[in-house]
Order: sequence, then structure tokens, then C-alpha cells
Amino acid sequence: MTADAKQRVAALLDLAEDRLRDGYRTERQARTFSDDGEKRPANVQAPSITGDSLERVSLEVGSCEACILARTRRNTVPGEGAQNPLVLVIGEGPGADEDASGRPFVGKAGQLLDKMLAAVGLSRENNCFIANLVKCRPPGNRDPEPGEVSACAVFLARQITLLKPKIILSVGRVPTQNLLKTTEGIGRLRGRFVDYQGIPLLPTYHPSALLRDETLKRPAWEDLKLLKARLDDNPSAGMAP
Ligand code: URA
Repeated sequence: MTADAKQRVAALLDLAEDRLRDGYRTERQARTFSDDGEKRPANVQAPSITGDSLERVSLEVGSCEACILARTRRNTVPGEGAQNPLVLVIGEGPGADEDASGRPFVGKAGQLLDKMLAAVGLSRENNCFIANLVKCRPPGNRDPEPGEVSACAVFLARQITLLKPKIILSVGRVPTQNLLKTTEGIGRLRGRFVDYQGIPLLPTYHPSALLRDETLKRPAWEDLKLLKARLDDNPSAGMAP
């Protein structure tokens, strides 16, 4: 943190202290602060005092108790990846492996997702961010309840605002139906871009569905090719008529 930023935080804390005590400003000795002098890697966002940040979202997710999933989780799974991603992948919610590690899509389905992304030049290290509709594991991998989805919705909304992805890839029925507010099946929704708050969103099958049913791999590959075409700046690729 810079000296200037520290100074402003200290001034805000002083003000809050005075307000809480009696409302009158207290004279304090001048304090001097110095820069931390840290070198932050280029892909790590600077902490913001007033504005929102991905770090702040992760911290708030980490202490969230807005729904009953907080009682059974081992770890929250806020999401991870590139800070200005081409693609934001949105899954359903953490499974057992993700709950154990605090990282999204690290189990078998996650390994397949990484391979699918790599096939079109994408990775969570370089140009994708991986998040979920809900940030805590629904016990037994059940679908998240509507109340759980709505309790968590603000976190995903903030992530979308902060990340400004070029494209959203929604994997599976649950995130797709919830984001698009539809009950249409994923088989009908997949393979076409739709507008989601000004961002092109492509629904496709969840990688765990591909692990269960090999026949879904070909249409999923067609979806990935559409995604790639769109990234290569073919704005009409796969757009709904
Ligand atoms: N399935 C999901 O939808 N999300 C994960 O993070 C892991 C598995």
C-alpha cells in the first residue's frame, strides 16, 4: 500500500472513531506513513480503498453466512483466473474436490474443462476466469436451491462487473437456466450466443455431463469452435437470429 493510501485509511478510521465516541473531532498528532514498496505482479489487481475489487469479493465470500450452505462447507470457492479475461466460465457450484481445496473445477470435470479450454487457446492462467453460480458446495452435489442462488447472486454479479469478460461460457443446465431465467433444457439452449447484460453468453454442456455421456462431446466441441470464432472476432458466429 502506498503512504498516501495509508494516510487516507487512517483519516477515515479517525473519523469513524470520533463519530462513534461523541461526534466531535479529536486533535491527533501527525503520523507519517511510508510506501510498502512491494512489487505486484502485472496480473494482480491493486487493492482499492473505496471501490470494489476481486479480492474484496473473495474476502466477503470467505465470511459469508447468507445461506445454509455456509454450515456444511469446508471452504468457500470464490473463483480464480485472469483478471481481465477473454472468457468467464460459470459453473454450477463447488463439488467435493473444490470444497476441499477452495478452488473451482479441480476435480475430474475441472481437468476436462481445462483440456477443452486449452483446445481453443484458453486457460485459467492466462485468459479465463473460472467462477460458479454458488460459492459453497451444496451437500451431496444436489442442485443449489433458489434461495441459495439468490443469496449468492450478488457475488457473481460483482465479479462480472469487475472482470468485464468478452464472453461468458455458461457450463451446464443450472447456471444457464438461472442466469437466463428460463426453464428451457440445456440441449436447446446450448450452441447459440445470447445477450447477458451486454455480454455475449454461450451455453454449453457441463464437463461432468460429457464424462457421463460421450455422445455430448461432439456438440460441446461445436460450441467451443463457436466460442473460438467469436474470440477471433467474428461477431455473428452463433448469434441467435
Ligand atoms: N462443477 C461445477 O459446476 N463447478 C465446480 O467448481 C466444480 C464442478
